[in-house]
Amino acid sequence: MLEIRNLHARVADTDTEILRGLDLTVKAGEVAAIMGPNGSGKSTLSYIIAGREDYEVTEGDILYNGESILEMDASERAASGVFLAFQYPLEIPGVATMTFLKTALNAQRKARGEGELTTPDFMRRVKASAADLKIDPAMLKRPLNVGFSGGEKKRAEILQMALLEPRLCVMDETDSGLDIDALKIVSDGVNALRSPERAFLVITHYQRLLEHIVPDTVHVLYKGRIIRSGGKELALHLEEQGYAQVIDEAA
Ligand code: ADP
Ligand code: MG
Ligand code: MG
Repeated sequence: MLEIRNLHARVADTDTEILRGLDLTVKAGEVAAIMGPNGSGKSTLSYIIAGREDYEVTEGDILYNGESILEMDASERAASGVFLAFQYPLEIPGVATMTFLKTALNAQRKARGEGELTTPDFMRRVKASAADLKIDPAMLKRPLNVGFSGGEKKRAEILQMALLEPRLCVMDETDSGLDIDALKIVSDGVNALRSPERAFLVITHYQRLLEHIVPDTVHVLYKGRIIRSGGKELALHLEEQGYAQVIDEAA
């Protein structure tokens, strides 16, 4: 589903490469964990897959279902099923969460040639997904993420993901800012969305999240490259040994 080849990228108008020859393959149905020390390029990778404009790919390619997406803008990628759950979800004053969700969902349906959902249909869906994620319906009337706790923001991200039914879900440090109960709710929400047609890129600094969302593969990102790949046991190994040993071996 996702094949990244020799990806080099930088922030637009700077000389510093952040991704420096990254290779990664993720199959449909797979949950791939990306782990790595702070500053290794994890968020940059997520932005570049999603098509953030102020980043520049200088070499290599990103294939999604066999086709390069480098020429597609962020909304085209979203319409084709790419979803990014942000590490730091933005607050959008003046836009009710419910309005945001309905607009996003209908824009995506339109791009896919599907008709708009009726309000009762939409309400049924959003209420069911919100209940699964233990989101208070009153929260949906509040402006998106404004005054939400860290855990509420992350649950709002997963609510968007559940409604938009993406094919490739990129989740950037969804566990940061979550207490243990919220971690369980979010993980259950993600696990319910696992399917043979859908792939996940779960980015995390810690092994803790991967006890709840058990990955098929684990990849270590360091200085803009994948320096080690393995199965779920690699995450445990990193938790016990830290990143230093894997970094030394790669050097
Ligand atoms: P991670 O998510 O793994 O902590 P990031 O992708 O956020 O890492 O950052 C990778 C590196 O790129 C860091 O050294 C960071 O300082 C640098 N970087 C990220 N964004 C920018 C930016 N907008 N301008 C300059 N450097 C940046
Ligand atoms: Mg970081
Ligand atoms: Mg980050």
